[in-house]
Amino acid sequence: MTDASIDVYADDPPIAAVPSCDVGAPRTAARIDAVAAAHAARDLLIALGVDPTAENVRGTPRRMAAAYAELLTPRPFELTTFANEDGYDELVIARSIPFHSLCMHHVLPFVGVAHVAYLPGERIAGLSKLARVVEHFARDLQLQERLTQQIAALLQERLDPKGVGVVLEAEHMCMALRGVQTSGTRTVTSALHGAVRDDPRTRQEFLSLTATGGMG
Ligand SMILES: [Zn+2]
Repeated sequence: MTDASIDVYADDPPIAAVPSCDVGAPRTAARIDAVAAAHAARDLLIALGVDPTAENVRGTPRRMAAAYAELLTPRPFELTTFANEDGYDELVIARSIPFHSLCMHHVLPFVGVAHVAYLPGERIAGLSKLARVVEHFARDLQLQERLTQQIAALLQERLDPKGVGVVLEAEHMCMALRGVQTSGTRTVTSALHGAVRDDPRTRQEFLSLTATGGMG
């Protein structure tokens, strides 16, 4: 239902389809309807007892829609890989990659760091790409467990490495601000594949390098 009294997208351009990138859109819904989202946001505010005509609230539905659209839209990138010409065979680790996502259950943020590692096989990837993979899957309604697995699975698929390890530590606003209100509690999830899971030395190296609480 459109309502002519709401200036839904007076100044913001409508948000286009989720840009394509070579790792594919992470979300099942590949398109965001910004106008419909703004109308729904307005309905939600009314249902929550907010007067949508109040001066400072008038632009809120459109700002809410734009904010969620941004948080749910991954930036396009290509996971370029290179031949491992020098036969590097030690762990490659990107530690403490900051990320934020939205929890699937409450649509509230969870915020933390990711530690991503792989033991190279024939292919290697640029270090910045590891952070981009994290961001790519984080821009979705997520479960931390699922996010962890998706990052590991993509690296496994694209690099065909001898092993992959992903550890995520995050604070969930749905826990910190409501319910049990356990502010400061971090949830830790991990996905270990190949030698990072099965080889005791590699596993130990990975876990000690990503030991929670020890990095700045
Ligand atoms: Zn939640």
